[in-house]
Amino acid sequence: MQKSPSLEPARCAELIRQARSAVALSGAGISTAAGIPDFRGPQGLYVTRRYDPEKVFEIGWFRRSPGYFYEFSRDFVDTVKDIQPTFTHRWLAELEQAGCLTGVITQNIDILHQLAGSRKVIELHGSYRSATCTGCGKRYADLTYAWWEQAMATSPTPPLALCPACNDVLKPDIVFFGEMVDYFPAAEQLVAGCDLLLVLGSSLQVTPASFLPYQTQATTVIVNRGTVLLPPSHHRHFVDGDLDAYFREVAKCLSG
Ligand SMILES: [Zn+2]
Repeated sequence: MQKSPSLEPARCAELIRQARSAVALSGAGISTAAGIPDFRGPQGLYVTRRYDPEKVFEIGWFRRSPGYFYEFSRDFVDTVKDIQPTFTHRWLAELEQAGCLTGVITQNIDILHQLAGSRKVIELHGSYRSATCTGCGKRYADLTYAWWEQAMATSPTPPLALCPACNDVLKPDIVFFGEMVDYFPAAEQLVAGCDLLLVLGSSLQVTPASFLPYQTQATTVIVNRGTVLLPPSHHRHFVDGDLDAYFREVAKCLSG
């Protein structure tokens, strides 16, 4: 049963208007309406194709046997390549352009914030936008899903993406288990300096993103479908509901 929003959209709009520095933290829930199932959800790739997330994104496994990761990548790229950003992705980009949002921190690797037009995006877990060769160390930037599709299509079985310079295996700059989250200090800094934190579509179960709301006393608005692992506090507002529906209302109040 849907709980009624505990923060009226009009009040949320007011908080955004009053904020000197608003920051958004997004998780898988912002992209499900775009058609990207949460990896871990009932329709997620981990479940439907029986990928083991501990193996797909485990760095030791990747070094020994990159084919398993690339089988997942082929499915993932096939799932996301034609997907468009949601209303909420586009609305965040508009807020930034209007000077009402300092930046977005995301747990997602789907690049939808950038596709929607957001400029300042901290990808905590990296993405397929760039890759580094495991052999010669050459870095490849501004990669597209079409590029990955082509790279994997021309490789032997199992699929791999190989370095055009030395033919060794490429690793997209996604943060694997066992690797450092390089951008976390930048995310911490952004959160520490904000006076409004919007947490969108994250149940805050995955570290290090789950630490971020604890690092600020700023007013925090958490919009997610389902349970969120964050204790109530006087400065936290929880909305259990659909992101696009809620923020369409907020956007209406802001423009009215
Ligand atoms: Zn190379």
